[in-house]
Amino acid sequence: MDAVAGTIPTVHEIADQPAPQCSEPASHRGPNFYPQAGLAPVSFREYYYPGVADEQWNDWKWQFRQRVKSLADLDRFFPMSAEQRLRMASVLHEFRLGIPPYYLSLIDPYEPQDPMRLQAVPSNDEFLNLEVGDEDPLSEDAFSPVPGIVHRYPDRCLLIATNSCALYCRYCTRKRIMEEGEAPPSRPQLEAMVGYIARTPAIRDVVISGGDPFTWSTARLEELLGMLRAVPHLEIIRIGTRVPVTLPQRVTPELCAMLEKYEPLWVNVHFNHPREVTREAAQACDRLLRSGIPLNNQSVLLRGVNDNLPTMRALLHALMRIKVRPYYLYHCDPVRGTQHLRTTVAAGLALIEGLRGHTSGLAVPTYVIDAPDGGGKVPVQPQYLQSYTAGRAMLRNFQGRVFEYDDPPAV
Ligand code: SF4
Repeated sequence: MDAVAGTIPTVHEIADQPAPQCSEPASHRGPNFYPQAGLAPVSFREYYYPGVADEQWNDWKWQFRQRVKSLADLDRFFPMSAEQRLRMASVLHEFRLGIPPYYLSLIDPYEPQDPMRLQAVPSNDEFLNLEVGDEDPLSEDAFSPVPGIVHRYPDRCLLIATNSCALYCRYCTRKRIMEEGEAPPSRPQLEAMVGYIARTPAIRDVVISGGDPFTWSTARLEELLGMLRAVPHLEIIRIGTRVPVTLPQRVTPELCAMLEKYEPLWVNVHFNHPREVTREAAQACDRLLRSGIPLNNQSVLLRGVNDNLPTMRALLHALMRIKVRPYYLYHCDPVRGTQHLRTTVAAGLALIEGLRGHTSGLAVPTYVIDAPDGGGKVPVQPQYLQSYTAGRAMLRNFQGRVFEYDDPPAV
């Protein structure tokens, strides 16, 4: 077995990459960095939403309604030239925009390469890459026995419940389902999805995703959970959501009390950067955990966002502190308009190399590439097993030391 480690940048090369620098003076940075003529700088919220009371700001429905959704909204927060406006109009024609004020408040307005901005705000790079990539890079549609169900693993399936999200991530793999308006499926459509699961006894685990199921009302989500729980052979329900990150106000005690009734229920959250682990996001996760819901995190490896070791380590450690288990690190799929956010596989392997053994194993996610043509998730690892013949394995540890290991004869 040949080692591939020679092609991977060293940990030190990655660790030495400088963090993005802000072009503005340090005095303008921090939570209160919106300067006003002749007055003290104010916070994002005071600057753009003066007079909005805590009650309103912390109301998820208000946050959802106030999302930046149009070109005009975008221009207000990120002023554009006439040419940029034309380019962004093309981008928005292809993939919708939605950023809640809460998430906007996390973006450094002085830094065009700010990691939260790269994830949420359309850019010139997205425009230039609009024709690069696939509509459906995982061939999910080819594995869809009924609309809304993707079934490509033996004992589990995906239920695409909605095409609505709190925030539309620029790298989203399912941009294709978001071309039409934010419309929830009808009851007959949901019945058809659940009907497929009910007549397929091999399915013991379903992932409800989208879009984001937490953008639904609690009553609507409960209706779907009730339908699924009525399927006798369905053991596990999982929900994939980025709402605890992008709209944590949505994780209300009422939502948690409802979810608690449908155990065993697991929630996969989606943090990509340590600055997303805010007090609000931590409180949202805490409410879910206290309702008996295990939380696992799925990150996407994104160029300029989390593709350097200090940032990734900070993210994983922050997740551990709030009791969210790092689960997967996804290689970014080759979906249309995302080429600028994709890294090499070597960059992903180097991150894992820099984590494995250097920090707790519990904090190290499984790095996976979703194979084309519906091949499913393929775990990829640096080469720790350097050679293996009957009776002998050569192992490389995290420090690069090589060990010979006796393998017992097979019985
Ligand atoms: S929250 Fe998930 S489904 Fe929604 S845009 Fe982001 S990555 Fe796509």
